[in-house]
Amino acid sequence: MNDCLFCKIINGDIPSAKVYEDQHSYAFLDIKPINAGHTLLVPKKHFANLYEMPDDVLANLTPTIKKLAIAIKKSVGADGINIGMNNDSAAGQLVFHAHIHIMPRFKNDGHEHWHGKPYQDGEIDNVAQKIKANL
Ligand code: 5GP
Ligand code: ZN
Repeated sequence: MNDCLFCKIINGDIPSAKVYEDQHSYAFLDIKPINAGHTLLVPKKHFANLYEMPDDVLANLTPTIKKLAIAIKKSVGADGINIGMNNDSAAGQLVFHAHIHIMPRFKNDGHEHWHGKPYQDGEIDNVAQKIKANL
């Protein structure tokens, strides 16, 4: 994709702090991290989001998520790691080249976890049923 920021980063047209690369994927530090070491892992091929990624592309990234999580945690002395992926604008996606956030967390780092909200009576079974029907 000619006008894709992350394709340009992968191609080296835009500089990045690369931490890992293999034939399938490229990982670099997020320019505006939630904490130092916040890394973005992207497939080298352009896919807009998770839904568009073929299963084999996703499968090739999975072990790298773990490898990076362990290395990042060790490197910045983090207390924990969040893995995240925003898909669609409503979920906070700003760059439409699929990417996985690997985010180091520290006790009392000031970032809030999302707030859960309870189901209404009977709603949980209804939602579970709908999801099962769509799989
Ligand atoms: P999204 O909201 O799409 O899941 O996340 C996009 C991420 O890309 C953001 O966390 C943002 O800080 C990061 N980002 C945006 N532009 C650049 C850039 O030019 N270089 C790097 N390294 N990260 C970027
Ligand atoms: Zn792209």
